[in-house]
Amino acid sequence: MSIKAQTKNPFKRLQCKLFGHRYAILRSYQTNKKEYECSHCQKQFTENDFGELEALTPKLRRINEVMEKFYVFKNARRRSA
Ligand SMILES: [Zn+2]
Repeated sequence: MSIKAQTKNPFKRLQCKLFGHRYAILRSYQTNKKEYECSHCQKQFTENDFGELEALTPKLRRINEVMEKFYVFKNARRRSA
């Protein structure tokens, strides 16, 4: 990650280190997966298979989106059957 992607306010980042992130829901999926963004440091997180939060990477977001599509597709089929 580049330096530019980090927040300019070191105090807020320190707050995260001391008190933990302040999560705000960024996006929620029908699959019950959610993506969060820390309102202090703007770091993004998602839930892994264990229900724990981990840093959101483009790969993880892609997985979330694929799972969502699959879920919607499955439900649509069930409804029409
Ligand atoms: Zn944070």
